[in-house]
Amino acid sequence: MDMYSGHINRLIEELAALPGIGNKSAQRLAFHFLNMSEERVNRFAQTIVDAKRNVRYCKTCCTLTDQEECPICANGNRNHRLIMVVENTRDLAAYEKTGRFEGVYHVLHGAISPMLGIGPNDIKLKELMERLHGDVDEVIIATNSSLEGETTAMYISKLIKPTGVKVTRIASGVPVGGDLEYIDEVTLLRALEGRIEL
Ligand code: ZN
Repeated sequence: MDMYSGHINRLIEELAALPGIGNKSAQRLAFHFLNMSEERVNRFAQTIVDAKRNVRYCKTCCTLTDQEECPICANGNRNHRLIMVVENTRDLAAYEKTGRFEGVYHVLHGAISPMLGIGPNDIKLKELMERLHGDVDEVIIATNSSLEGETTAMYISKLIKPTGVKVTRIASGVPVGGDLEYIDEVTLLRALEGRIEL
């Protein structure tokens, strides 16, 4: 891409490194930014910096939030004895959008993958186990139905069973290898209602 200046090339490279952005889109976005007013570009950049600086893990469920405890964990009307374990904040958002889950969540920020060298200590599993010292009736494992998601579900259920807390897994209505965030609400609810005890 020698036809562009170094600055443009760098911008295109940075954009192309983002998930889901190919080289063509990166070029289109780069020129879109360059056509924006300086004020708008500054505001955009500052929004990213502010989000990065202020967003942290909820001290209870590990989801991304800008408070010490996220609004779901801080909500007294939720059932705090029912914990749904998801791989990431986007999965939490997908279930939350159904508006039908009254429990709380635990966000692992990943899944166990021996192939990628991601072990139990690389996800927020210790934090989940610590929560089980409190009053918990059931842990619903809603990791994806990918190999990593299933491996993680099995691992967690083996870990929790000795504690006597009920462990369930969402039904396999969720297509194999399907990312939870892309599945429609009806399928999500069916998977939740049809959960089985492990
Ligand atoms: Zn929380």
